[in-house]
Amino acid sequence: MNERNIRMTGVVGRPVAHSLSPTLHEFWLRRAGEPDRYAPLHVEADDLERVLLTLPMAGFVGVNVTTPHKERAAALCDRLSTTAAAIGSVNTITYEDGALIGETTDGFGFLENLRASVANWSPAGRTVACLGAGGAARAVCAALVEAGATEIRIANRTADRAESIAAAAPATMRVAAWPPSADFWSGADLIVNMTTLGMDGGPTADAAFALPDRLDGVVATDLIYAPLETPFLASARRRGATIVDGLGMLLHQARPGFRRWHGFEPTVDAETRAAVLAAS
Ligand code: NAP
Repeated sequence: MNERNIRMTGVVGRPVAHSLSPTLHEFWLRRAGEPDRYAPLHVEADDLERVLLTLPMAGFVGVNVTTPHKERAAALCDRLSTTAAAIGSVNTITYEDGALIGETTDGFGFLENLRASVANWSPAGRTVACLGAGGAARAVCAALVEAGATEIRIANRTADRAESIAAAAPATMRVAAWPPSADFWSGADLIVNMTTLGMDGGPTADAAFALPDRLDGVVATDLIYAPLETPFLASARRRGATIVDGLGMLLHQARPGFRRWHGFEPTVDAETRAAVLAAS
């Protein structure tokens, strides 16, 4: 801690100006009357190691890590949580007695968002159909396996990336063709878009989002939160699915780091959501 007893925290990325994490953490801090701060830190790849090792000297107790530094940051940590070690990626670093402790909280945020949004919903025993096999998909699939999902189907444009995720739990995960056929969605309890398709200003893909006519009893979620109702979610809603947007995942994934750095659990509620939405 620095001379004013202010715990410094932040998010390290490139780019980072678009990140909603500063708004979220500062909202929780101001609401609790804490003087601690959270800063956006634009860091080039070549500078990552020096920056991560130097931040504690400026009063930093921890940082979030975002694109494109999550894998490199994991390699720089002194200790990793079991999941972070398994997927080779961190989004949360805590400084403890000079050591960098890394963890990944995207999977936690994904599951907490579903638990908070859908009454009595649990992944245990469920069949899940996922589009995408990037870094976030790796974390979410690991969390779904850990939480007891019995079948996870993955379709990704680049099959190798899906194969690599599925190899971690071959009894539960299997790779399907891209774009997925109607069979891919059949019998799934949870359907998820983990690609970047449908982000504001980016491409979408009607072929990949060709859902069955009816999705009654199915939960549909998207990791994208801008827009809140993505093309994937809009299509699923029209077919009768229960929709969970990606903003809740962003809010919940921030809780473990915040708790570690400031010593109390932040609450995700309507006020939190409104504060973050106002900044987006
Ligand atoms: P990533 O590692 O770059 O993965 C991108 C994924 O999108 C890959 O599966 C990629 O397929 C697919 N993709 C991209 N362009 C495509 C196209 N034109 N056609 C078909 N597939 C395409 O990204 P990530 O870190 O996993 O993030 C994925 C999404 O999740 C992003 O929108 C990110 O903002 C969001 N996210 C949200 C949260 C949250 O808290 N809500 C947290 C983390 C991430 P290939 O493998 O074939 O390239």
